[in-house]
Amino acid sequence: MKWHLRVNNHGEYLISNTEGTEIAQAFSEQYAFLLLDALNHPATIMAKYPPQDGREWYCQCARCGSSVYEADEEFSGVCMSSPEWCEANPLPRREHIKRGKVEWFTL
Ligand SMILES: [Zn+2]
Repeated sequence: MKWHLRVNNHGEYLISNTEGTEIAQAFSEQYAFLLLDALNHPATIMAKYPPQDGREWYCQCARCGSSVYEADEEFSGVCMSSPEWCEANPLPRREHIKRGKVEWFTL
């Protein structure tokens, strides 16, 4: 899904996607371009819930990058690798992250 920016005949900045969903209007030009850039590029975020920005978010263990069970509707993640493997194989600079912390990302 791609997002694009247009200016209507009132001079307002409108951001909409290729499915016709319009999410924002009347931003400053600077803010509109920042938002557009963020929407159109892959992102990751460590949080209990994914952002509600219209994109498809996937989750993984923030420590080792393995898939995560969404154990319940609260999105409390369970790393699908063994505790030993997760403990021994953290991603670079993720050594301090606890197993099962959920990281959300877009493709
Ligand atoms: Zn893990």
